[in-house]
Amino acid sequence: MQRLSLTPNLELSRLVYGLWRLGDDADTSPAYIQRKLEACLDVGMTSLDQADIYGGYEAEALLGKCFAQAPHLRDKFELITKCDIVAPVGRYDSARVKYYDTSRSHILASVEHSLRLMQTDRIDLLLIHRPDPLMDAQETGAALDEVIASGKVLNVGVSNFMPHDLSLLQSAMKAPIATNQIEISPLAHLPFTNGELAYLQEQRIKPMAWSPLGGGALFGREKSALKDKLTEISARFEAELSALVLAWLMHHPADILPVIGTNRIDRIKTAATAFEIKMDRQTWFEIYTAALGREVA
Ligand code: NAP
Repeated sequence: MQRLSLTPNLELSRLVYGLWRLGDDADTSPAYIQRKLEACLDVGMTSLDQADIYGGYEAEALLGKCFAQAPHLRDKFELITKCDIVAPVGRYDSARVKYYDTSRSHILASVEHSLRLMQTDRIDLLLIHRPDPLMDAQETGAALDEVIASGKVLNVGVSNFMPHDLSLLQSAMKAPIATNQIEISPLAHLPFTNGELAYLQEQRIKPMAWSPLGGGALFGREKSALKDKLTEISARFEAELSALVLAWLMHHPADILPVIGTNRIDRIKTAATAFEIKMDRQTWFEIYTAALGREVA
């Protein structure tokens, strides 16, 4: 599988495996998680996307239990995790409200939790999960530089940031912001035109795309013109619909890294067939037109 350099010391597989839904799977045993990780490795997908909050702050521990049983696996992957969302569940049960915390103390504590739960000594990429209206950029930027200096975190980045949020934080830190993980799919196509992708391209920052298949909404029962068009084009390419959509995202010149979220081993393999699809400009616009619901002006 293709690999992309995000910083001088961070290379990720072009497709990233997301673990948000790990705890929703019928089988969450370390042995079955190991099988899923091995399926990722089989197709060259070596980057894993976690967040402290996934599974009510439990998903990192599920992965950690798998690494404990199969310690050789940890070094085969780049581990991404996130912090700053505090929801009143799990270890933050006593919170009165869901909120964001980008303070130094929260970031440092969150890194310690993530390392302990995932049973590892380093996080390859730590992301600030959501822009925090109370972010003190100087404090947050310094804390991110501090976790890198400690060697516990090798790279840092952000998620769901608008260009102004990103540029503010970058102005207050030394380490380069490695990525902005944002929602992009045929159902969430605004980043193509609202400046989010343009800004990342200008800054030479490669975006990650979460819910690239619309979180499964592209496969629901309801009929839609978009689904019909995707089905028609997939048939033309003799490809799976999911692979077509991933190829569509990767065709964009911003070097988007889609983060897929399937729990099924066969669908991990299918995702990798996206690289066999030769996307072209007119097909890209056929899908974009269907996503917009109208012809471009
Ligand atoms: P997704 O790949 O768009 O959607 C995955 C969902 O689609 C799963 O429920 C999967 O079900 C279903 N699906 C996939 N292929 C299918 C098919 N051919 N037919 C029917 N259903 C299909 O991505 P996602 O899970 O929403 O998100 C991916 C990752 O992005 C997450 O794991 C997380 O790491 C990250 N994320 C980040 C943020 C953020 O704020 N930074 C937010 C959300 C997610 P099966 O399991 O049955 O295949």
